[in-house]
Amino acid sequence: MPDLTALTERYRRATGTEPDGLWFAPGRVNLIGEHTDYNDGFVLPFALDRKAVIAAGRRDDSALVMVSLELDDEVTMDLADLAPGSGGWAAYLAGVVWALRQAGHQVGGTTIVMSSDVPLGAGLSSSAAIECAAVAALTDLYSLDIPKMDRAKLARVAENAYVGAPTGLLDQAASTLCEADAGLFLDCRTLEAQQVPLPMAEQGFEILVLDTKTPHSHVDGEYGARRASCEEAAAVLGVPALRDVTDLDDALGQLADETHRKRVRHVVTENQRVLEAFELAKAGNLAALAPLLDASHVSMRDDYEITVPTVDLAVETARSAGALGARMTGGGFGGCIIALTRAGEADRIGQEVAAAFAAAGYGAPEWFSATPAPGAGRLDPTGA
Ligand code: ADP
Ligand code: MG
Repeated sequence: MPDLTALTERYRRATGTEPDGLWFAPGRVNLIGEHTDYNDGFVLPFALDRKAVIAAGRRDDSALVMVSLELDDEVTMDLADLAPGSGGWAAYLAGVVWALRQAGHQVGGTTIVMSSDVPLGAGLSSSAAIECAAVAALTDLYSLDIPKMDRAKLARVAENAYVGAPTGLLDQAASTLCEADAGLFLDCRTLEAQQVPLPMAEQGFEILVLDTKTPHSHVDGEYGARRASCEEAAAVLGVPALRDVTDLDDALGQLADETHRKRVRHVVTENQRVLEAFELAKAGNLAALAPLLDASHVSMRDDYEITVPTVDLAVETARSAGALGARMTGGGFGGCIIALTRAGEADRIGQEVAAAFAAAGYGAPEWFSATPAPGAGRLDPTGA
């Protein structure tokens, strides 16, 4: 939890008044379903107990004052000057105000002071955390009646249209809609979302999230290439998206290009794994998720070719150290892995991965044990 006293003090320093309230939104991790979103498929993320917290209040003027405690920076803009492409970290917040106003909501001058314990740029969605916390704050401050899925969509508009990052709805949907001890099954075509229980602690499990801290390189180009392959393959197969492939063997028989065949095999089997994970979690069988995590990793490594040596070493070490199942999570080429472990084992397994990294000459990873946490909302002033 970010330091709420420091947050409120910084708000007082910026305005000379008390904030109207505190709001939060969490980062997220994707349990399973990688590169399925842009194929109209399925994802299953859960929210982390790491979050962005915002102290916010209405102003009498038309200024938007934004402060980040992490970056120790203050940016002021006039509401009339908000325009896509302004850049910098403040664009994620200014983009939310812009998206709300574009959608016809009355949002006036506001001071937003924020602090987050979601690591920046680690693939745990620090960006959606600050966007969704801002949406939560502004909807309350200006008494806007916006259903939760629409709030997530507005946060996505901020990221896509204002910041200029072409991401799917997964991050904002998870940060807004998730509930404690639950995952969010999201159909990326219909945008239908369903809660699914993930009582990890109750069933004696833990989830390790380990950041390999591998610098992402060539990510944009590789991401674009994967997307293009999927679209080409779907065109050859005569389906709107790879989500519509129902018979994998038949589809593979129609594809002459080996790269297309591998990419299609990943997307189709990954969608099946998400559906299976959803059914298993609904039936309360969390242990059975482990082999799906393993299979997802192998598919990303061999068919989608989006893992890197650090990530593979982290997954292999976690498995040999006793994790029940493990996979890379996120877009790939670095970032985080998750491992399903027995309760009380996540930290030891993290340490074993760190030892393997040191032995291989890799930089030190960082890790924590994750509990599926609730999505965005107003924070009690006591921090509860
Ligand atoms: P991720 O969402 O995986 O963490 P992104 O690149 O999508 O990575 O978003 C990271 C960006 O979000 C940062 O570079 C910064 O601009 C913004 N951001 C996130 N958290 C903060 C924060 N606490 N203070 C200022 N900017 C932040
Ligand atoms: Mg992001």
